[in-house]
Order: sequence, then structure tokens, then C-alpha cells
Amino acid sequence: MSHFGYHGHYLRIDLETEQVTRVSLGTEVLRRYLGGSGLGTHLLLRENAAIHDSLAPEAALVFAFSPLVGSPLTTSAKFAVVSKSPLTDRINDSLASSGFAMAGKQSGCDALVLVGRARQNSVLLLDDGRFELLPVQGLAGQGTQQTERMLQKQLGNDWQIASIGPAGENLVRYATISHAGRHAGRGGAGAVMGAKNLKAIAVRGSQRVTWADGDRLNAYAKDLALRSVGPETAKYRELGTASNVLAFNRLHALPTRNFQQGSFAAADQLAPETLAVNRVTDRSYCSACTIGCEHRYSLEEDPATDGESVRLEYENVFALGPLCGIEDAHAVLKASQMCDQYGLDTVSTGGTIAFAMECVQRGLLDVSWLKFGDSEALWRAIDLIAERREIGDQLAEGSRRMAGWVGQDSLAFAPQVKGLEIPGYEPRALQTMALGFAVGTRGADHNRSGAYEVDFSERVDRRNLQNESAALAIETEDKAALMDSLILCKFLRGVFQDFYQEAAHILQLITGWDVTSSELKSNAAHIVSAKKLFNIRAGWHPKEDTLPARFFDESLDDDRQTKISRSKLDELIESYNQLRGWTQDGYLSSQQERELECD
Ligand code: SF4
Repeated sequence: MSHFGYHGHYLRIDLETEQVTRVSLGTEVLRRYLGGSGLGTHLLLRENAAIHDSLAPEAALVFAFSPLVGSPLTTSAKFAVVSKSPLTDRINDSLASSGFAMAGKQSGCDALVLVGRARQNSVLLLDDGRFELLPVQGLAGQGTQQTERMLQKQLGNDWQIASIGPAGENLVRYATISHAGRHAGRGGAGAVMGAKNLKAIAVRGSQRVTWADGDRLNAYAKDLALRSVGPETAKYRELGTASNVLAFNRLHALPTRNFQQGSFAAADQLAPETLAVNRVTDRSYCSACTIGCEHRYSLEEDPATDGESVRLEYENVFALGPLCGIEDAHAVLKASQMCDQYGLDTVSTGGTIAFAMECVQRGLLDVSWLKFGDSEALWRAIDLIAERREIGDQLAEGSRRMAGWVGQDSLAFAPQVKGLEIPGYEPRALQTMALGFAVGTRGADHNRSGAYEVDFSERVDRRNLQNESAALAIETEDKAALMDSLILCKFLRGVFQDFYQEAAHILQLITGWDVTSSELKSNAAHIVSAKKLFNIRAGWHPKEDTLPARFFDESLDDDRQTKISRSKLDELIESYNQLRGWTQDGYLSSQQERELECD
């Protein structure tokens, strides 16, 4: 069957037997799950991936493309990596950008489902749909960018490569899969790939899909590109996401020293406004993007040097700076660069190190050098994590598992939900976000729940949970599920007056379907329920939908008014579940389960 916008099938590759199966995807499935995170979740459910250990050969690792990839739409060159997370043992969907998404789709499929384990450390080649496994030669232990460079030299520049670094090879539970300096970062997809004995995946192809109404799509894409450089994205273009540092600091929302404080005295030293004064800066773009939110800073503080530069995002600054008490911008930039090269998620790296630093501060862990504010200690810990040496072997497990090893009630201040380290949004200062963290299927996550937007609006009092919070958190979570399935960059979201309406228009032009905004709203909720079904099959329990005890029991040192009410959060979680049509304690209704099983 031919489809506009899609190839209409995925490739299932068994790495052990080296068998490739081409499996058709019907219109009903594509229309419901779209692509990216949605399609990836559906394929994991088909594989019954929830019941396997995430690092076992039977585990499935899905690379899902989307109907928009390869189109002229700005920010559409993205792919999703979906699997069971080795960090949370729940569903994990991470997104990354650029040439790999376009070449992967042009290699002739809508998704790749990888199962089994290659017999030796290998590179998977997909050349216009033809599959081959090459033994890794000289790549073991190489960093992510070096791996890409070496493989492109060997194979040719028309190949696009996604790879893991030493962290993925050593099965660090929060290792990334990286491509062109971008990372499918959270949740440990890199360890899943490492467990499959895959160092890299290289793709190229010439199989372009066609669009239902190419002329109108081009006209719409031009208009969207113009709007994408308007005031709604100015923040990302001018300073990038790191512009949050000073704003969050003012609101006591900048997690500091493992969430002991919500503001950091040296925040201005790490803010892009300061970094830009003495460093060479540069801006870069994902493929097919008109916004260009990526800001790079030279590692050295010398405007005359033409040395290395590092991409800096708010999450890197927060996690490797204030969270670990680090004031020195050079230390944060270098730590960020180390994480990129090793293939480590910066949020979980910083979160787990900060947790260990607090354990040392409290006398629960005898690693005297691991102190808040010590740059050398930060770098040393990152090296040890990637190599899984000494204390690094425990740190590589993430803060929840490490708390199990440290014991003595340290779980109360391990900065995680469902095992995923909390990103740079202090839950006590942003309480709708706190609800979003607690219920998130991926764990504590600002990309799958944009509830912080509600906190920053006039709609709620951000320092108190309110009854409206449940519905508002659902609104942002559903919107994110749709954006991650279409896939469009979230930094575009402010550009749409009515996102669902425009998304329906886009899909009509791409696919020719008579899709409506209400259908897309229902699909978005269905995708969130599909993720929940995965988690239920993986052993989810209602008790997981909560926050670490610290956030209920301790106020911020620098904002003594602010705690989260445990009873109010529990009440709102019940409302959230009911509004989703789930049972009060968060299981799917039997009708929802039947519907998902029939897909
Ligand atoms: S806005 Fe930033 S993250 Fe989004 S596609 Fe553009 S460069 Fe990439």
C-alpha cells in the first residue's frame, strides 16, 4: 500500500541471526500513532518489550522517524529512540535531530526495530534498505564525535551516523545515543545499544516519500519559517535555553547543591549574558531549522583563541553547575564537553554526582574528595562514571540505585522520580511541574510534560498546588506527546495560535488524510495511555507516582515558605488519573486496554 508521507513499513532486524523482516504498517496505525514517540511506543507494545530486561538480548530498541521528516517544514528533521529504560525500567523515548533522521527515513522505512545482540561489537549499516553488520575496527572506546568522524572517513560523507561513546559501551544506565553533537539523551538508550553490541548505526538512502499536496505544503512551510523567527522564539535565538539561568535563580527555581537550595549565589557567572563577554560564541542549527537555538562558547576565556567550543544548554549549566555547587564557568563547559564525548546524559550525570556529594556532606559516603563546589572532583567523577571504575561504578547506576546501595534513608534526597534524575526545575517553586514530574511515564521530565509553562503563566500560583493543576498538566503533556510524534521541535510551540488546528492542517497536506484537530487531541491522549500501558506491563505501581520525601518534608533553605503538600499532590494525582479516564489509582480502564491491544 502506498502512503503519502510514509513508506508504510518498518524493518525488524534481529542482530543475532542477522535476519531482516519488512513489516507493513497500516493506515489505521499510522494515523493513530503518527511517528516518533507515538509509533515507537506502539512498536514496543507489539514486541511485548515491557516484560524483558532492558539490557537483555530480547529487549527491543526502536528508531522511529515521522511523517514530517524530509518535508520543507522547519524543525522537522528529528527522530525518536524508544525502548525500556535501564535507568527507570519504564518506557523511555528520547529525541534527537538532523541528518540521521533524514537519511534514516530515506533509507526506506518508517522505523527500525532492533532485537537480539550482535555476536561481536559491530556497526549496523543500512544502505537504501540493505542491511549489513560490520565488525568494529579501531572504534571501541572512542568518543561520540570521533566515532562519527572515523566512520564517515571510512564509509563516505553521504552516511549519517548515530553512535555511543564509552559510557554506552560500559552500560552506564544514563548513556546517550548521539548524532552530530545532538543526543537522544535521557533514560539510557545508549546502554541499550551498547548491550546489543552496537557501537554505531550508519544510514544512507535515496528513497524519498511524496506529499499529498506539495504546492500547498511548500507555501505553508514558507509562512511557518517566517513566523518561526518572530518574537516567540527570540529567547532561543538570542541567548538559547541557558537564558533561564538568571530568571530561574530569581524565582528560587534553580536547583542548587542537590536541591538543598533554589538559588545560587554565583549564578551570574554561569549565565550566557556573562559567558558571552569574554568567550568566542557561535550559534548553530539542527538540519532543516530556521530558529537555531544552539549557542556554543569557547572553552577558554580568551577571545583571541580559535580553540574548541562547547554547546551549552540550560540543563547542562544547571546540572553541572549549581546542582553540584560549581561556580567556575570553565569547569562547567569542560564537564559538559566530557559528557558529550563520553555519551552521558548531563542531567543524570550531574544529578547523581550531586546526590553523592550530599551523601559525603552528611557523612553517609566515604569518598572524601567528592565535595560540592570542587571542579576537579566533578571531572574526576565523570571520568570514573564513563569507565565504571571505583565509585564511578555506583554512580553509573543513577541516584535511585545508588541510594539503595548507600542506604540510611538517602532515598529521601535522591533527586529522581521513577529513577530518572529531576531536570532543572525546582519542584517546590514550580508545583504544577511537580505534578507533571510525579505522573510522568518517563519519570521526572520537562520534555514530556511542559507544566512549568503553566507555573510561569497567570493561571496558577506556582508555589501552591491548585485544583486546576491536574487539567493543565494534562494539556501540556498531550501537546508534548503530539509534537514528539509528528515530530516538531518544541521551541516552535509558541508560534502556533491553535496548535492542534495547524497540526491537522500539516498532516492533511502531508498525508492527504481528512484529519481534524479533535482527532489529534484524542490521538495525543491515546499515545500517553499507550505509554502507561507499557509501564503497567513492566510492573508499574501507583506508589511510583510521587516525589522524593525531601520535597514534602523540607523547605528550601532560601525560601522557607515553600514545601509541597503530600496530601494535595495525592489528591491531584487522583484527579489527573480520572481526567485521563484511568482508574483513580492510575490503571487503564478495561476498555482503554482493549482498544490499545486491538491497535
Ligand atoms: S530550535 Fe534548536 S533544538 Fe529546535 S530544531 Fe532548531 S536548533 Fe534544533
